Amino acid sequence: MPVQRYAVVGGGIIGTAVARRLLARAPDAVVTVLEKEDRLAAHQTGRNSGVVHAGLYYEPGSLKATLCRRGVSLLREFCAEKGLPYEEIGKVLVALDGAEEERLGAIAERARANGVPGVRVIDRAELHELEPHVAGIAALHSPTTAIVDYVAVTEQLAEEARKAGATVRTGFEVAGLRSTGGEVVVTSTAGEEVVVDRVVLCSGLQVDRLARLAGDDDAPRIVPFRGEYYALRPDKRALVNGLVYPVPDPRYPFLGVHLTPRVDGEVLVGPNAVLALAREGYRWRDVSPTELAAIVRFPGFRRFAKQHWRTGLAEMRGSLSKRAYTAAARRYVPELTVEDMVPATAGIRAQALESDGSLVDDFRITRRGAVVAVRNAPSPAATSSLAIAEHLVELLLAEGTAP
Ligand SMILES: Cc1cc2nc3c(=O)[nH]c(=O)nc-3n(C[C@H](O)[C@H](O)[C@H](O)COP(=O)(O)OP(=O)(O)OC[C@H]3O[C@@H](n4cnc5c(N)ncnc54)[C@H](O)[C@@H]3O)c2cc1C
Repeated sequence: MPVQRYAVVGGGIIGTAVARRLLARAPDAVVTVLEKEDRLAAHQTGRNSGVVHAGLYYEPGSLKATLCRRGVSLLREFCAEKGLPYEEIGKVLVALDGAEEERLGAIAERARANGVPGVRVIDRAELHELEPHVAGIAALHSPTTAIVDYVAVTEQLAEEARKAGATVRTGFEVAGLRSTGGEVVVTSTAGEEVVVDRVVLCSGLQVDRLARLAGDDDAPRIVPFRGEYYALRPDKRALVNGLVYPVPDPRYPFLGVHLTPRVDGEVLVGPNAVLALAREGYRWRDVSPTELAAIVRFPGFRRFAKQHWRTGLAEMRGSLSKRAYTAAARRYVPELTVEDMVPATAGIRAQALESDGSLVDDFRITRRGAVVAVRNAPSPAATSSLAIAEHLVELLLAEGTAP
C-alpha cells in the first residue's frame, strides 16, 4: 500500500489517540494533527469531570458499552505505563426512595451484561460505611470506577504520536475541505493548506459543520449543552470519599448533579445541563447570534425543546440560582450549605441531535469519501478514547475504504 497522508482535525483526547493509533498500525503514514486553539485539550477534554466510567448504563452491545469497557482497560494500562494518576476511588449510585431503589437491580444487571466487575447493590448500612455523609436508602456500588487527568493523558498521547513521527500543529483552524483527484486539500482560516489522502474529523463541538463541508449529511447536528460546576471549599472535601451519583433518570441519563473528587484533590459538584448560547459559550454572556439562530432554526432542536422544556427550565433555575443548585446536591449530602460551594469551571457537551428531535445515544462515526467524522462522542468518550481510536483506525485501514 502506498504511504498515506492523514490529517486529524482536533487536538482533544480522541484526535490525539487516533494519531497515535494510526502510527502504531501504519508506521510509515504521514500524520498531521490540526488544532485550532493554541493548546491541546482546550474544550471538552479539558473541561470534564475526569471520571473513567466503568460502563454501568450503556445498552449492551452498543459502541458505548463495548468501547467503554475496552477503553477502561487500555486507559488503565496507558496510565500505569506512563506514570499518570489513575485512582479507582469507586462510585455509588444513591437511591433516595423506593422507586429509585427498584431501578438499581436493573442497572446492576446491565452493568454485569457489559462486563463491569464487582458491581453490587448495597444497603443503607454499607452505604454509610463507604460514604458516612451521604443520605440514601440503598446504592449501587461500582468499586472500579476511577478518576484521571484527561489533559495529562492527551498531552502524553500527543507526545507519543510525535515520537512516532506525527506533526501536531496548534493554531490551525480548519475552514475548508476540498476533495480533488483522490486528495483532500485542507485549508485554514489563515489560508494555509495541507494536502492529504485522508481526513479524520475529531472536532467535538464543531464536527457537524466540518463534516458538512466534506459533503456529509446535514444531520445529526451538534447542540451544545453547557455543564456548570461548583467546587467544594477545601475544608469540606472530606464530605465524600468517592464518586456520588444519583440513580439516572432513564429519560435523561446525563442529568443529575453529582459529586466528583478529582486527582488534584478538588471535589466538583455538578455538572448541570443548560443550552449554551454559542458552541463554545462557557458563560451566559457568551452569545453567538449566528450560532444560536442556526440552533433554533434546526427542526430537530425545536422538536427537542417542545418535548423537554420543563426539564430545561429546571436546569436553568439551578444555573441561575446557587441556592437551587445547592438544594439538588443537598439531597445527597444534607450537610452541604450554600457557603460550602464556590463557582468552578464549565464544560460544553457536543451532543448530536437528529432532525426528529431525538438525541443520538450511541457513538457515531461516518465516512464520506476520504473523510471520516466522529459525529457523536459525548460521555463516556474520554474513557473510551483509546478504544474509539482502535475502532476508527481499523475502519480507516480496512479494505474498501478508499474514496
Ligand atoms: C461537562 C462534561 C463532563 C464530562 N465528563 C466526562 C467524564 O467524566 N468521563 C468521560 O469519559 N467523558 C466525559 N465527558 C465527555 C468527554 O469530555 C468527551 O466525550 C471527550 O472529551 C471528547 O473528546 P474529543 O477529542 O472528541 O473532543 P474535544 O476535546 O472537544 O476536542 C475537539 C477539538 O477539536 C478542535 N477543533 C474544533 N474545530 C476545529 C477546526 N475547525 N480546526 C481545528 N481544530 C478544531 C477543538 O478546538 C478541540 O480541541 C464530559 C463532557 C463534558 C462537556
